[in-house]
Amino acid sequence: MKNKIVVALGGNALGKNPKEQLELVKNTAKPIVDLIEAGNEVIIAHGNGPQVGMINLAMETASKSEANTPEMPFPECGAMSQGYIGYHLQNAIREELLSRNMNTPVATVVTQVMVDKNDSAFETPTKPIGAFYTEEEAKKLETEKGYKMKEDAGRGYRRVVPSPIPVDVVEKETVKTLVDNGHVVITVGGGGIPVIKEGNSLVGVPAVIDKDFASEKIAEILDADYLIILTAVEKVAINFGKENEKWLSKLTIEEIEKYVEEGHFAPGSMLPKVQAAMKFAKSKAGRKALITSLEKAAQGIEGKTGTLIVK
Ligand code: ADP
Ligand code: MG
Repeated sequence: MKNKIVVALGGNALGKNPKEQLELVKNTAKPIVDLIEAGNEVIIAHGNGPQVGMINLAMETASKSEANTPEMPFPECGAMSQGYIGYHLQNAIREELLSRNMNTPVATVVTQVMVDKNDSAFETPTKPIGAFYTEEEAKKLETEKGYKMKEDAGRGYRRVVPSPIPVDVVEKETVKTLVDNGHVVITVGGGGIPVIKEGNSLVGVPAVIDKDFASEKIAEILDADYLIILTAVEKVAINFGKENEKWLSKLTIEEIEKYVEEGHFAPGSMLPKVQAAMKFAKSKAGRKALITSLEKAAQGIEGKTGTLIVK
């Protein structure tokens, strides 16, 4: 059966540097093309933590150095990361398609995601980004640039930015049109470039939208049947890493909700995935969310592994 599937790729699908990424995406393309070959419509979303961190750090370092390059705002760093990750992904998917005699067009859409300027996340920034600074430098940045600086695990001070929830996807009509016309689309990279609306303008804000939530949002907008979150583990566990660890296969929203309340899922890693999966499964009858590993994606779709969350 033909399904519309949003695939969200995690850090392990892309690696930590351009060289590693170029190699890893060849593998990442395989399960994606398996899905396309089986006749599904596939939309791809991905994280950008290490990549945007690297770009931001390089830009900050160069602007502080003798090179004295212009300062690069954080939303622009996010846009750069979408472009460079998309470039690697679209080429790898194209190549894998061609090797199977398919010439489905593949493209990346630089995607902005609307956030609410009154989101309470803006009051308590949580995501550390960029370079490490001394306490003195950190204080200077706070007064001069209005950055929020926080001590990061004994390693020095870093800028922290908020993680607001996605409200809407600005380029949704473009993504829809491409998908409806048989294109494979890479979108909401890194959770999307966070923007707020000011009159007719969209203004980029220094923030990080969780890619799991942004993937869920675009899946709802596109009326997808499946949200598949591919990460480093084959299944979601309760008592994760403990002696009584138990891997979960198929659950209802009520069942997993109970485990969320009991605190089984780590905030910042598994919790946002579980929350995104629950939100998607809840949003409309028939929608399913699957959390599994990149390697097991195909088997997961066949219902043989992974953690499936249904209404
Ligand atoms: P991604 O880059 O795919 O978003 P994350 O590192 O953010 O990956 O999240 C996936 C990780 O979450 C897993 O590799 C695992 O170490 C961790 N994790 C935390 N709690 C759980 C849990 N209850 N079950 C499975 N994995 C968990
Ligand atoms: Mg993550």
